[in-house]
Amino acid sequence: MPVILLYNTLTRKKEEFQPIHPDYIGLYTCGPTVYNYAHIGNLRTYIFEDILKRILLYNDYKVKHVMNITDVGHLTGDRDMGEDKMEKGAAREGRTAWDIAEFYTKAFIKDIRCLNIMEPDTWCKATDSIPEQIDLIQSLEDIGFTYRISDGIYYDTSRFKDYSKLSHQNLDALQEGARVEKNIEKRNPTDFALWKFSPADTKRQMEWDSPWGKGFPGWHIECSAMSMKFLKDHLDIHCGGIDHINVHHTNEIAQSEPVTGKKFFNFWLHGEFLNIKGGKKMAKSEDNFLTLENAFINRNISPLVYRFASFLTHYRKPMEHSEDAVESAQNGLAHLQNQVRSLNDKSSESNGKISEDYKEKFLNVVNDDLNMPRALAVVQETLKSSIRTEDKLATINDFNRVLGLNLDRLDKENVIPDSIKELVNARKKAREEKKWALSDELRNKILEQGYIVQDKKDGMKVIKK
Ligand code: AMP
Ligand code: ZN
Repeated sequence: MPVILLYNTLTRKKEEFQPIHPDYIGLYTCGPTVYNYAHIGNLRTYIFEDILKRILLYNDYKVKHVMNITDVGHLTGDRDMGEDKMEKGAAREGRTAWDIAEFYTKAFIKDIRCLNIMEPDTWCKATDSIPEQIDLIQSLEDIGFTYRISDGIYYDTSRFKDYSKLSHQNLDALQEGARVEKNIEKRNPTDFALWKFSPADTKRQMEWDSPWGKGFPGWHIECSAMSMKFLKDHLDIHCGGIDHINVHHTNEIAQSEPVTGKKFFNFWLHGEFLNIKGGKKMAKSEDNFLTLENAFINRNISPLVYRFASFLTHYRKPMEHSEDAVESAQNGLAHLQNQVRSLNDKSSESNGKISEDYKEKFLNVVNDDLNMPRALAVVQETLKSSIRTEDKLATINDFNRVLGLNLDRLDKENVIPDSIKELVNARKKAREEKKWALSDELRNKILEQGYIVQDKKDGMKVIKK
């Protein structure tokens, strides 16, 4: 197996990756909180994780990928204060929290399909694993790591001596940060809720019975419980955005290691932020929030332009979103597509051989902590090389397993095929007859074939991915 180097937040070093067990690599990526659309910043993180997974597959590993859907209990503040995001979303839209979760989960899955992000092997909703979360809290209670205050059961961070091992911050700095959102009953500012009680005077839409009374789980416990439930002892790699280092992932480790007595995930990888001009982070709570739909699809720009744009900045560097960045990614992707189209035109047979030399170059850069800017340079080097046209095509198609840019299915002309038009018409009919499930199914079929259908006031619009 070739050497794969990954930057591990735990050790702050690039380390050689080795799977814990040879049968498969367990990969857990923290999924969306489904109270609103994902913004393109969130999607940058999912693209980075997709590249990681594709690189592991490209190296011939088997991967079991688990992603959670946070459909409960994530409060607007990281430290268990503020409103419940799901119930807030429900109030905003006049729908139930369950409807909100379903609607935005579907929207998220559509976004990732538009970006050619491979779906996880297991999707897991927090609300489907409440008993496992309760069990884990009980285990923490059994070893004396919890305490009860008026609004819930809390984790006592002073009990876990390695609490800052992921963040590398000293506890004073962490506690200072945590003090911003104050709960005077907590023993330490960094302590966090494991189980929150339902308020006595209001009925929550999402609440469960527990040994401590009716309530709902704290945000962090779902990822500890579900990663162990679905990956068992294949706790190889855990990912998220850098904002998860200090609180969410730190707390996941604190909840898991004292109970199992074992290391909770060997590798922790974190993607840097997408910022808007001026270095401000794109965030759901700000009005700088752009979705894939309004920043790309509605403007007739293929979402793959965004995927391509994200390759131009290494995942551990901040990326800036601007009109100029979109335009240069559009030009870059169109140029690459034209280069591949021209190879298609020139090649007479389809029996090209993958060039071992260029494949090795490509592997060397992607295995060096996912260096996609250099991978794009190797793609250009291959295209400009003197190897046979057919071999070039075979090699680029092979690279596309990592790139996921549909380079292996470029049409000669930009016309919508009749088969897609038929599916669009069938979907139109389904919507007229209010058959919403069929309409969703047809939209997914159209998407699988590389086209995106949009519902507009003046009818349906179709664009190529
Ligand atoms: P959330 O739905 O808020 O839990 O976030 C989903 C993922 O997006 C998490 O892994 C976050 O760390 C990540 N994320 C949030 N904001 C940004 C951003 N501006 N750029 C990149 N990733 C982000
Ligand atoms: Zn998580």
